[in-house]
Amino acid sequence: MAGRLAGKTALITAAGQGIGRGAALAFAREGAQVWATDVNAKTLAELEGKDAVGGRPIRTRVLDVLDEAAINKLAEEVAHLTGPIDILFNCAGFVHHGTILDCTPKDWDFSFNLNVKSMYFVTRAFLPGMLKKGGGSIINMSSIASSLKGLPNRFVYGATKAAVIGLTKAIAADYVKQGIRCNCVGPGTVDTPSLGERINAFADPVQARKDFVARQPMGRLGSVEDITGILVFLASDESKFATGNMYSIDGGMTI
Ligand code: NAD
Repeated sequence: MAGRLAGKTALITAAGQGIGRGAALAFAREGAQVWATDVNAKTLAELEGKDAVGGRPIRTRVLDVLDEAAINKLAEEVAHLTGPIDILFNCAGFVHHGTILDCTPKDWDFSFNLNVKSMYFVTRAFLPGMLKKGGGSIINMSSIASSLKGLPNRFVYGATKAAVIGLTKAIAADYVKQGIRCNCVGPGTVDTPSLGERINAFADPVQARKDFVARQPMGRLGSVEDITGILVFLASDESKFATGNMYSIDGGMTI
């Protein structure tokens, strides 16, 4: 099968909607065997067997990235059915809205568990197979709201996404001599279902959308397709000299 990811197997977390779903379709289109996972069985079901523009049919599995036992079990199942993976895209994450004073210890733990600890669990489960195979590409989802930029009302979110950059660099440093690359991406504001929910939660959603757009120097929100190109690049051998980096793709937010 032709395509920039031909012959590769990829696993994606939070692939039921938004950027994770876009990545599942883009990776399949480029010839990868994709394992799309999400905690939401309903949105995931829509992807099962989908072969985007002649790509390979996508396989799906319900997976809660907070459930270490389920993650380890899935790593075994995937290795048994399609062999160890070549590409891991840790996409799952949650945006908590608010300042430090709005963030309870429960909010803090939830955000760090979903945005950071999940990457530790999932990478720990799939990395041994990648090492056995002799290499692979790990892509972690960070954000512009991280150590790159402080944004209002993104206290714990920004802290978690900065941690993702550190986690990415640490993994890259440990496995650079064993063929494992580990990078992260930092999107600006992307029009996904959860952004829509966040906008609708404001008293004036029309103004809230305008405010989100105003943060973007290009004068528009990003689309999922604006982000998938760099994900395919990082997943493919085209980026084989790149590791330990944060790739901003943000419509000019960090100019
Ligand atoms: P989204 O927020 O619309 O969807 C998130 C998905 O995660 C859903 O399908 C949900 O079911 C899944 N999920 C939630 N909890 C889970 C769990 N415990 N286990 C497995 N899956 C779970 O998608 P999005 O907006 O594309 O965000 C995806 C990632 O991109 C997140 O890490 C987010 O922080 C990051 N990001 C998003 C934007 C943006 O503007 N949308 C910008 C920068 C970074």
